[in-house]
Amino acid sequence: MVYIKDDIESLDKKLGREVRVCGWVLRQRIVGKIIFWRIVDSTGETQVIFKRGEIPDDLFEKAKKVTLMSAVEIRGIVRPAKTKGGKEIVPKEVTIIPTDPILPIDPLNRTSTLSQRLNYRSIDLRDPKISSIFHIRSLIAQAFREYLLSQGFVEIHTPAISIYSAEGGADVFEVKYFDKTAYLRQSPQLYKQLAVSGLERVFEIGPAFRAEKHWTIRHLCEFTSMDIEVAWINDIQPLLELAEETIKYIFEKLRSEGKKYFDILEKEPPSMPTTPFPVMTWKEAIAIIKDRGIPMEGKDIPPAGERVLYEYVKKRYDSEFLWIVDWPFEVRPFYAMKYPNSETTQSMDLLYRGLEILTGGKREHRYEILKKQMLQKKLRPDFFGYYLEAFKYGFPPHGGWAIGLDRLTMQVLQLDNIREVVLFPRDPGRLEP
Ligand code: ATP
Repeated sequence: MVYIKDDIESLDKKLGREVRVCGWVLRQRIVGKIIFWRIVDSTGETQVIFKRGEIPDDLFEKAKKVTLMSAVEIRGIVRPAKTKGGKEIVPKEVTIIPTDPILPIDPLNRTSTLSQRLNYRSIDLRDPKISSIFHIRSLIAQAFREYLLSQGFVEIHTPAISIYSAEGGADVFEVKYFDKTAYLRQSPQLYKQLAVSGLERVFEIGPAFRAEKHWTIRHLCEFTSMDIEVAWINDIQPLLELAEETIKYIFEKLRSEGKKYFDILEKEPPSMPTTPFPVMTWKEAIAIIKDRGIPMEGKDIPPAGERVLYEYVKKRYDSEFLWIVDWPFEVRPFYAMKYPNSETTQSMDLLYRGLEILTGGKREHRYEILKKQMLQKKLRPDFFGYYLEAFKYGFPPHGGWAIGLDRLTMQVLQLDNIREVVLFPRDPGRLEP
């Protein structure tokens, strides 16, 4: 068994040898007494040639009847040819698992809508341009993990179902848990905090759920959060530096191991950013946004504001990244650490190419103050049982952040919809497949 890529890459070794290649028929072309198949597997494309006289007649007839996207297993000989990959396969034996003659989507995705493609992802993924997206996504997660492990972090796995609803608010999915009501986590926040109190440096890659009726190109009801949390920090500076180094490591990997996938997508890998990234306070950011006439709704920065800030840093610092620090408590969760005698929190968001991809900050670790902040957010401390109690027992100062894997992948690839980088997206209208 060989994959097409191996075949292409080690042509000389395979030349004249019998191989077994499996994949799907992407195109069929009949030119007189010759039939060409273009077949694709998860690694690339190749050509199969059926020439009357060179192969048995029954094989030729079989090849003629194939329907596009049928799954095929071919045993044959590789030889040089004037094709893109420089070779072709002369079949000896072919097994066909046929498709229905009418496909629900255009196999090369030239005419199908995103929604149709998502309904038929299993076919969609046979297009190398689509599978490359998921190879890149996988590399990002791998690099994130590798870098943090190299820095002494421990990978953790915390519950997705819990009695606590971390951020409070209405954006939480309820789950029937035997005779109790539980919630799907909005982030691993509370549990990564509990873990850091003993493990000191932790990270987790896992699902997060938001029951938000958002119909945007950047929100999903389930997304993948890449979280870290560290103990013993006194301010947010180490958090900024750790994020910058993690991103640089991810980008290095994309530029080396990911290059081949960017080539398939006819895109450039992200350029290596200069660190430190520019930093501005929330107040400074708001002033710039207001100055450009972008209306604000509340204290959060609207998408149009994020784009204005991107233009600003691009022009001024030639940076695709921007830190916005020191957010008002009003738009941060109850566990955010405030500056002394202030309603400003020690927190940050990171914008990449004009989209928020990371949120984080220092957390409140003092039991009484944490309890007070819960009340300030109109949350009931007695609902936070063992979580809140843990802060009575020598809880270290700590902080962390989360990067949305989906958003980072989308931005790295400069795609215009988050659904493109998620195998089976969940949004308010999509629960299937
Ligand atoms: P936004 O302001 O864009 O709605 P948020 O402030 O609610 O995002 P956080 O709760 O701070 O986001 O989540 C941390 C990170 O998780 C974000 O920076 C983003 O990358 C990602 N994220 C948050 N919500 C979503 C979502 N609904 N869909 C996809 N990714 C998300």
